[in-house]
Amino acid sequence: MANNRILLCLAHMSGHEMKYIQEAFDTNWVVPLGPNVNAFEQDLEQLCGNGKHVVVLSSGTAAIHLALVQLGVGRDDEVICQSMTFSASANPICYQGGVPVFVDSERDSWNIDPNLLEDAIKDRIAKTGRKPKAIIPVYLYGMPARIDDIIAISRRYEIPVIEDSAEAFGSRYRGQLCGTFGDFGIMSFNGNKMITTSGGGGLICPDEATKKRTMFYATQSREPFPYYLHKELGYNYRMSNICAGIGRGQMFVLEEHLAHHRHLCDRYVELFANVDGITVHTNPDERCDSNYWLNTILIDPHKTGTDYETVRQHLDACNIESRPLWKPMHTQPVFNGAPAYVNGVSEELFSMGLCLPSGPWVSDEDVERVAREIIACCK
Ligand SMILES: *Cc1c(COP(=O)(O)O)cnc(C)c1O
Repeated sequence: MANNRILLCLAHMSGHEMKYIQEAFDTNWVVPLGPNVNAFEQDLEQLCGNGKHVVVLSSGTAAIHLALVQLGVGRDDEVICQSMTFSASANPICYQGGVPVFVDSERDSWNIDPNLLEDAIKDRIAKTGRKPKAIIPVYLYGMPARIDDIIAISRRYEIPVIEDSAEAFGSRYRGQLCGTFGDFGIMSFNGNKMITTSGGGGLICPDEATKKRTMFYATQSREPFPYYLHKELGYNYRMSNICAGIGRGQMFVLEEHLAHHRHLCDRYVELFANVDGITVHTNPDERCDSNYWLNTILIDPHKTGTDYETVRQHLDACNIESRPLWKPMHTQPVFNGAPAYVNGVSEELFSMGLCLPSGPWVSDEDVERVAREIIACCK
């Protein structure tokens, strides 16, 4: 049906999910622990390799929060965060009473600019006499950040890295899974991400002891006593055995999803190849292997005679969902007054960009329809 609404990224099941959920019901493991939780963590640890350990949690936001807790981020501590991102990258800094320091992007990957990052670190040390407590780079729309350069800076200044790889599940840099380079990495299994548990996340930890510590915080920081004894503030962040059952089932379609998102990218590139002023965001070099979670384009108003908002409204009228890029955090009212190191890149990208339908339900015919309607807006 030509008029079915085409959505950005809709969940898609393998068919195995119900089996694991049924097992959970049959054995009465309808709680935030159990066999599915352990098995899903094993699946994810196998995917990560590099001796990493994974704790599955109630959300990706919770994962960032528990990384900050374990890095000792507290009141008035500064944490550097990529400005161009979803607000969930920065919100947990404020949950801890910390101060986000936003750093702008570089043009190739759209992710944190390593040179500006180093400038920001030097300037924070000069201004406050203290080092930022952590660095949060993001893999926007699945595109790898300049993670080698970021890790080198992290080592030079001894500031830990929390990779926000929530959008980059399955993306790789130099063949290594994004999220496994830093001290911590983040996974999100929200309904619209590469795979889903209906809602959920994971924290990639460097070792077994950190995994145990994460589980401790995620289950209300209960000390090993017969009565409930608490010496530290706890959180109720563990993933349920039901959600983990969905996650186990979703692992069967991961490779298929990755191949499909990448195929759609190729189709968009072909369809816009001869359109002056429309650029599809693709791997900037051979080290990057994006999952293309959302395919994105830049629309040059001078060359196309249109702009992202006119196109978005036209697509909406044609029953096609699209979305502007993430509005940079240093321009968000909620983070008013936070220090920011800005080079103009993220604001320019925001003024030109659009996310296009990219999920498992989007067909080749859908992509052709999307491209046709976008081209119809151009002069
Ligand atoms: C989705 C997302 C998160 C948070 O994940 P939730 O599971 O929705 O809490 C964090 N950062 C980025 C960049 C995201 O896109």
